[in-house]
Amino acid sequence: MTTARPESPRRGSGAPYLLTGHKWFFSVPMSDLFLTLAQTDKGLSCFLATGWLPDGSRNRLKLQRLKDKCGNKSNASSEVEFYGLHAVMLGEEGRGIRTIIEMAHLTRLDFAVGSSGLMRQALSQAIHHTSNRRAFQRGLIDLPIMRNVVADLAVESEALMWMSMRLAQALDHAETDRAEAMLSRIATPVAKYWACKRAPQFVAEALECHGGNGFIADHLMERLYREAPLNGIWEGTGNVICLDVLRAMQREPDSVGVFLGEVRKARGGDTRLDTFTDRLERRLMKVNDLEPIVRRVVEMMAFALQASLLVRYSTPAVASAFCAARLDGDWGRAFGTLPHGLDTQSIVDRARIEAS
Ligand SMILES: Cc1cc2nc3c(=O)[nH]c(=O)nc-3n(C[C@H](O)[C@H](O)[C@H](O)COP(=O)(O)OP(=O)(O)OC[C@H]3O[C@@H](n4cnc5c(N)ncnc54)[C@H](O)[C@@H]3O)c2cc1C
Repeated sequence: MTTARPESPRRGSGAPYLLTGHKWFFSVPMSDLFLTLAQTDKGLSCFLATGWLPDGSRNRLKLQRLKDKCGNKSNASSEVEFYGLHAVMLGEEGRGIRTIIEMAHLTRLDFAVGSSGLMRQALSQAIHHTSNRRAFQRGLIDLPIMRNVVADLAVESEALMWMSMRLAQALDHAETDRAEAMLSRIATPVAKYWACKRAPQFVAEALECHGGNGFIADHLMERLYREAPLNGIWEGTGNVICLDVLRAMQREPDSVGVFLGEVRKARGGDTRLDTFTDRLERRLMKVNDLEPIVRRVVEMMAFALQASLLVRYSTPAVASAFCAARLDGDWGRAFGTLPHGLDTQSIVDRARIEAS
């Protein structure tokens, strides 16, 4: 446990404290500034500490070891001991979680965007490899079964990227627009949950597109594969994030209407989306009964928001593939199971990045 005692007669927000105790996880220990939590006699409180003191010496923390992680190798994560760390209290004493969660809201958006970016990189690698490797006298990408795999990945990637970017926009407007603030509050954890949950499965499929080479340690795909699960863990694991969505809906019931309003901006664009949204709305009406099935509901919210954005802003081929597979149930449990009759060629072409 880490405890804090006042360094002077002053207490509370803005006052200096000395922190003592152990931190099992302490990422980026070379940073100039840290937010950290510690107990005072009024409960868990939030503190801001500098890495260095005004005289140029190291603030009072000892790195005990660097974590030997499965991935994320170039970002140091450590275990530290505070021994009288100089820090200043931020926010109300005893309400540290509430204070630090304001930062966590931003990093949750980072992880939605980051995981979407990671998947986009994996997709580009898969398109490049399958377009250049030939098997049985044909390019891999020209085999209908492989084109279905790559098109399914492309649809997934684009849908996640639209959702992440829309929430970045909502955050930009949150200070001046209450509806955007509510959308940001309720849907950022939805995007964090779903983008991070999809990343490991997505990257594994993109890796498999490379055959054996994808599994070899000097290939980029191996690094993406090791990195993929991490964003789902830090700043809130899947369960914690889904419970946060539920809490947001319970505390601010109006946010449900704002969310559905955003989805319904595409109303009339695709009947599968309209039907799906009505079904989602019926579920969201029983917000106090949702805890055991909240992962399922958050997944539905992600699908609805993604579909709405694709119907409004993407091509008919991508939007239709998403609605058929994700909303209408004509989809298997692995990537590469898009139904018949979709324009997979144009979906793949849209996702292809040509070297100039
Ligand atoms: C590389 C790395 C770097 C990190 N850096 C930092 C850092 O700099 N600072 C920092 O503070 N933390 C850091 N962390 C810690 C990280 O935020 C936590 O590991 C993460 O939030 C999960 O908490 P936990 O490890 O205590 O797991 P637990 O909370 O024990 O969770 C275990 C499982 O139980 C589930 N669970 C937990 N609570 C509930 C609940 N109420 N209801 C339902 N299910 C629940 C979780 O979903 C999870 O599946 C880092 C972690 C990693 C891997």
